[in-house]
Amino acid sequence: MSRNKILCCANSASKSHILLSIPYLLIDSIKARFYYPNFLLSVFLTFNMNRDFNMKKLFYSEYKLGRRFLGCLAYDKDLISSIENFCRDTSISMATFSVIGAVSSVTIGSYDQKQQVYVTFKEKAPLEIVSCTGNISLKDGCPMAHAHIVLGDEQGKTIGGHLFSETIIFAGEIDIQELTGKPMKRAYDGTTGLMLWKPSI
Ligand code: ZN
Repeated sequence: MSRNKILCCANSASKSHILLSIPYLLIDSIKARFYYPNFLLSVFLTFNMNRDFNMKKLFYSEYKLGRRFLGCLAYDKDLISSIENFCRDTSISMATFSVIGAVSSVTIGSYDQKQQVYVTFKEKAPLEIVSCTGNISLKDGCPMAHAHIVLGDEQGKTIGGHLFSETIIFAGEIDIQELTGKPMKRAYDGTTGLMLWKPSI
């Protein structure tokens, strides 16, 4: 039984699967000539059932507050890239942030849950950042910003959604709160089609 198949058992999270997988784990360990690190990892993955990989219950980690930064974002730069570059330069791997200011163009979207794709919307217009909040976690070992934004026009009408690159800063003030602890990592989730936080193993 490969490590992937063991993970599939973990997904189903039934006790019968745990019991059924024990003989396979033992056979595996014999085949692997008692390669103990691999065997112990298999046992850990199988018995680590309290973490629901299918997100049927709340999965969480606890963090302590780290450094806090307030800064002025550079004119005419991409908003998402500016935040991610700052986090990379200051070695931030987990954080929450908020931004207020204005943009000269915006790309936002919403997730089509049936088609499992983002539908994006671009607009080149001066808009106020009424609210922009998000978080930083790791994807492929690099800080990744996930942010949502609400923008207002000169008549006070608002648009909002998931923030994408090609949103250009006119002026921006950012407040980033670093979180210390084991960083969340993003991985593909087959149920939603999204890159969701997964337990670190
Ligand atoms: Zn989003």
